[in-house]
Amino acid sequence: MLNISGIQIEVCKKDIKNMHLYVKPPNGNVTVSTPLSMSDEAIERFVRIKIRWIKKQAAKFDNQPRQSEREYVSGETLYVWGKQHYLQTEYGNKNSLILSGDKAVLTVRKESTAKQRENFVREWYRELLKTETAGMLPKWEKITGLKAAGWQTKYMTTHWGTCNTKTGKIWLNLQLSKKTPECLEYVILHELIHLVEKKHNERFVSLMDKYMPMWREVKSALNEQTLDYME
Ligand SMILES: [Zn+2]
Repeated sequence: MLNISGIQIEVCKKDIKNMHLYVKPPNGNVTVSTPLSMSDEAIERFVRIKIRWIKKQAAKFDNQPRQSEREYVSGETLYVWGKQHYLQTEYGNKNSLILSGDKAVLTVRKESTAKQRENFVREWYRELLKTETAGMLPKWEKITGLKAAGWQTKYMTTHWGTCNTKTGKIWLNLQLSKKTPECLEYVILHELIHLVEKKHNERFVSLMDKYMPMWREVKSALNEQTLDYME
Protein backbone atom coordinates (compact mmCIF):
# COMPACT_ATOMS: atom_id res chain seq x y z
CA MET A 1 0.00 0.00 0.00
CA LEU A 2 1.35 3.40 -1.01
CA ASN A 3 0.03 6.74 0.14
CA ILE A 4 0.55 9.50 -2.39
CA SER A 5 -1.02 12.94 -2.00
CA GLY A 6 -3.50 11.46 0.46
CA ILE A 7 -4.59 8.71 -1.89
CA GLN A 8 -4.22 5.07 -0.85
CA ILE A 9 -2.79 3.03 -3.67
CA GLU A 10 -2.72 -0.73 -3.67
CA VAL A 11 0.36 -2.20 -5.31
CA CYS A 12 0.17 -5.60 -7.04
CA LYS A 13 3.48 -7.00 -8.16
CA LYS A 14 3.03 -9.41 -11.02
CA ASP A 15 4.97 -11.16 -13.70
CA ILE A 16 4.23 -8.44 -16.26
CA LYS A 17 6.29 -6.10 -18.40
CA ASN A 18 4.61 -2.71 -17.89
CA MET A 19 2.91 -0.84 -15.12
CA HIS A 20 -0.87 -0.42 -15.19
CA LEU A 21 -3.04 1.85 -13.17
CA TYR A 22 -6.70 1.21 -12.33
CA VAL A 23 -9.33 3.34 -10.64
CA LYS A 24 -12.19 1.04 -9.78
CA PRO A 25 -15.84 1.69 -9.10
CA PRO A 26 -17.78 2.17 -6.93
CA ASN A 27 -15.39 3.93 -4.55
CA GLY A 28 -12.55 4.90 -6.84
CA ASN A 29 -10.06 2.52 -5.22
CA VAL A 30 -6.70 2.81 -6.92
CA THR A 31 -4.58 -0.19 -7.84
CA VAL A 32 -1.28 -0.26 -9.65
CA SER A 33 0.04 -3.47 -11.19
CA THR A 34 3.78 -3.52 -11.65
CA PRO A 35 6.50 -5.88 -12.82
CA LEU A 36 8.09 -7.88 -9.98
CA SER A 37 11.42 -6.12 -10.28
CA MET A 38 10.05 -2.57 -10.06
CA SER A 39 11.37 -0.49 -7.15
CA ASP A 40 9.01 1.36 -4.82
CA GLU A 41 10.62 4.57 -5.91
CA ALA A 42 9.86 3.93 -9.56
CA ILE A 43 6.27 3.00 -8.72
CA GLU A 44 5.83 6.19 -6.77
CA ARG A 45 7.22 8.27 -9.61
CA PHE A 46 4.87 6.56 -12.06
CA VAL A 47 1.84 7.21 -9.84
CA ARG A 48 2.78 10.83 -9.17
CA ILE A 49 2.80 11.59 -12.89
CA LYS A 50 -0.75 10.25 -13.12
CA ILE A 51 -2.12 11.84 -9.97
CA ARG A 52 -4.34 14.34 -11.77
CA TRP A 53 -5.81 11.62 -13.92
CA ILE A 54 -6.46 9.48 -10.80
CA LYS A 55 -8.26 12.33 -9.04
CA LYS A 56 -10.36 13.01 -12.10
CA GLN A 57 -11.41 9.36 -12.36
CA ALA A 58 -12.19 9.18 -8.64
CA ALA A 59 -14.30 12.35 -8.88
CA LYS A 60 -16.40 10.74 -11.60
CA PHE A 61 -17.37 7.94 -9.22
CA ASP A 62 -18.13 10.48 -6.51
CA ASN A 63 -20.64 12.18 -8.75
CA GLN A 64 -22.49 9.00 -9.54
CA PRO A 65 -25.51 8.22 -7.42
CA ARG A 66 -24.57 5.00 -5.66
CA GLN A 67 -26.67 2.12 -6.69
CA SER A 68 -26.81 0.42 -3.33
CA GLU A 69 -27.54 3.62 -1.47
CA ARG A 70 -31.12 3.11 -0.37
CA GLU A 71 -33.63 0.35 -0.89
CA TYR A 72 -36.12 1.48 1.73
CA VAL A 73 -36.01 -1.84 3.51
CA SER A 74 -35.95 -2.59 7.23
CA GLY A 75 -32.71 -1.75 9.00
CA GLU A 76 -31.90 1.40 7.08
CA THR A 77 -31.92 4.70 8.92
CA LEU A 78 -34.02 7.74 8.31
CA TYR A 79 -33.27 11.14 9.80
CA VAL A 80 -36.21 13.31 10.74
CA TRP A 81 -35.57 16.73 12.30
CA GLY A 82 -32.10 15.60 13.29
CA LYS A 83 -33.24 12.43 15.00
CA GLN A 84 -32.27 9.00 13.79
CA HIS A 85 -35.05 6.50 13.13
CA TYR A 86 -34.74 2.88 12.17
CA LEU A 87 -36.75 1.98 9.16
CA GLN A 88 -39.20 -0.85 9.47
CA THR A 89 -40.77 -1.68 6.14
CA GLU A 90 -44.17 -3.31 6.00
CA TYR A 91 -46.37 -4.22 3.08
CA GLY A 92 -49.83 -2.93 2.40
CA ASN A 93 -51.97 -1.27 -0.24
CA LYS A 94 -51.76 2.25 1.08
CA ASN A 95 -48.43 4.02 1.45
CA SER A 96 -47.68 5.53 4.82
CA LEU A 97 -44.76 6.51 6.99
CA ILE A 98 -45.35 6.71 10.72
CA LEU A 99 -42.79 7.62 13.35
CA SER A 100 -42.97 5.69 16.57
CA GLY A 101 -40.19 6.15 19.10
CA ASP A 102 -36.93 5.51 17.31
CA LYS A 103 -38.72 3.61 14.56
CA ALA A 104 -40.05 4.81 11.24
CA VAL A 105 -42.67 2.39 10.01
CA LEU A 106 -42.93 2.56 6.23
CA THR A 107 -45.85 0.82 4.59
CA VAL A 108 -45.55 0.29 0.85
CA ARG A 109 -46.79 -2.12 -1.77
CA LYS A 110 -44.64 -5.25 -1.78
CA GLU A 111 -43.84 -4.94 -5.48
CA SER A 112 -42.90 -1.24 -5.27
CA THR A 113 -39.46 -0.32 -6.53
CA ALA A 114 -36.83 1.55 -4.50
CA LYS A 115 -37.49 4.55 -6.73
CA GLN A 116 -41.21 4.54 -5.96
CA ARG A 117 -40.53 4.25 -2.24
CA GLU A 118 -38.04 7.06 -2.50
CA ASN A 119 -40.60 9.28 -4.20
CA PHE A 120 -43.11 8.58 -1.49
CA VAL A 121 -40.61 9.31 1.30
CA ARG A 122 -39.48 12.45 -0.50
CA GLU A 123 -43.04 13.82 -0.62
CA TRP A 124 -43.45 12.90 3.02
CA TYR A 125 -40.39 14.99 3.86
CA ARG A 126 -41.81 17.81 1.76
CA GLU A 127 -45.02 17.85 3.80
CA LEU A 128 -43.03 18.01 7.04
CA LEU A 129 -40.98 20.89 5.74
CA LYS A 130 -44.03 22.78 4.51
CA THR A 131 -45.77 22.51 7.86
CA GLU A 132 -42.70 23.64 9.78
CA THR A 133 -41.90 26.49 7.38
CA ALA A 134 -45.46 27.78 7.50
CA GLY A 135 -44.90 28.49 11.20
CA MET A 136 -41.25 29.45 11.14
CA LEU A 137 -41.04 31.82 8.18
CA PRO A 138 -43.60 34.36 9.49
CA LYS A 139 -41.73 34.33 12.80
CA TRP A 140 -38.46 35.32 11.10
CA GLU A 141 -40.21 37.82 8.85
CA LYS A 142 -41.50 39.50 11.97
CA ILE A 143 -38.12 39.50 13.71
CA THR A 144 -36.24 40.89 10.70
CA GLY A 145 -38.95 43.02 9.12
CA LEU A 146 -38.11 41.32 5.81
CA LYS A 147 -40.80 39.65 3.81
CA ALA A 148 -40.54 36.94 1.17
CA ALA A 149 -42.85 37.35 -1.83
CA GLY A 150 -43.41 33.60 -1.64
CA TRP A 151 -41.69 30.35 -0.85
CA GLN A 152 -41.51 26.85 -2.17
CA THR A 153 -39.89 23.56 -1.33
CA LYS A 154 -37.70 21.79 -3.80
CA TYR A 155 -35.55 18.68 -3.93
CA MET A 156 -31.98 19.92 -4.37
CA THR A 157 -28.61 18.26 -4.04
CA THR A 158 -26.38 21.31 -4.09
CA HIS A 159 -28.06 24.00 -1.99
CA TRP A 160 -29.99 24.12 1.26
CA GLY A 161 -31.91 27.11 0.10
CA THR A 162 -31.95 29.72 -2.63
CA CYS A 163 -33.39 33.17 -2.96
CA ASN A 164 -34.43 34.96 -6.11
CA THR A 165 -33.64 38.55 -5.24
CA LYS A 166 -35.57 39.85 -8.25
CA THR A 167 -38.87 38.18 -7.41
CA GLY A 168 -38.28 37.96 -3.65
CA LYS A 169 -39.07 34.24 -3.67
CA ILE A 170 -37.37 31.67 -1.48
CA TRP A 171 -36.78 28.00 -2.21
CA LEU A 172 -36.05 25.54 0.57
CA ASN A 173 -34.43 22.17 0.10
CA LEU A 174 -36.88 19.55 1.27
CA GLN A 175 -33.99 17.59 2.76
CA LEU A 176 -33.94 20.22 5.49
CA SER A 177 -36.55 18.14 7.29
CA LYS A 178 -33.80 15.59 7.92
CA LYS A 179 -31.79 18.12 9.89
CA THR A 180 -32.48 19.74 13.26
CA PRO A 181 -35.11 22.52 13.23
CA GLU A 182 -32.34 25.04 14.03
CA CYS A 183 -30.89 24.30 10.60
CA LEU A 184 -34.17 25.28 8.97
CA GLU A 185 -34.25 28.47 11.07
CA TYR A 186 -30.75 29.26 9.88
CA VAL A 187 -31.54 28.70 6.19
CA ILE A 188 -34.76 30.73 6.40
CA LEU A 189 -32.93 33.64 8.01
CA HIS A 190 -30.05 33.34 5.53
CA GLU A 191 -32.39 33.52 2.53
CA LEU A 192 -34.44 36.35 4.03
CA ILE A 193 -31.30 38.42 4.46
CA HIS A 194 -30.50 37.82 0.79
CA LEU A 195 -33.63 39.85 0.02
CA VAL A 196 -31.67 42.93 1.06
CA GLU A 197 -28.10 41.74 0.54
CA LYS A 198 -27.22 39.47 -2.39
CA LYS A 199 -23.65 38.75 -1.40
CA HIS A 200 -22.13 37.01 1.61
CA ASN A 201 -20.28 40.20 2.48
CA GLU A 202 -19.69 42.05 5.74
CA ARG A 203 -23.14 43.53 5.76
CA PHE A 204 -24.67 40.10 5.27
CA VAL A 205 -22.59 38.63 8.10
CA SER A 206 -23.44 41.48 10.47
CA LEU A 207 -27.15 40.95 9.83
CA MET A 208 -26.76 37.22 10.51
CA ASP A 209 -24.86 38.04 13.71
CA LYS A 210 -27.58 40.43 14.76
CA TYR A 211 -30.46 38.00 14.40
CA MET A 212 -28.74 34.67 15.08
CA PRO A 213 -25.50 35.03 17.04
CA MET A 214 -24.96 31.23 16.93
CA TRP A 215 -25.40 30.90 13.17
CA ARG A 216 -21.84 29.69 12.56
CA GLU A 217 -22.35 26.67 14.80
CA VAL A 218 -25.64 25.86 13.12
CA LYS A 219 -24.09 26.22 9.69
CA SER A 220 -21.26 23.83 10.46
CA ALA A 221 -23.70 21.31 11.97
CA LEU A 222 -25.77 21.58 8.80
CA ASN A 223 -22.80 20.94 6.56
CA GLU A 224 -21.45 18.05 8.59
CA GLN A 225 -23.95 15.85 6.90
CA THR A 226 -23.81 16.01 3.15
CA LEU A 227 -26.78 16.13 0.87
CA ASP A 228 -28.73 13.10 -0.15
CA TYR A 229 -26.81 11.00 -2.61
CA MET A 230 -23.49 11.82 -1.00
CA GLU A 231 -24.72 10.33 2.25
ZN1 LIG B 1 -26.42 32.64 0.59
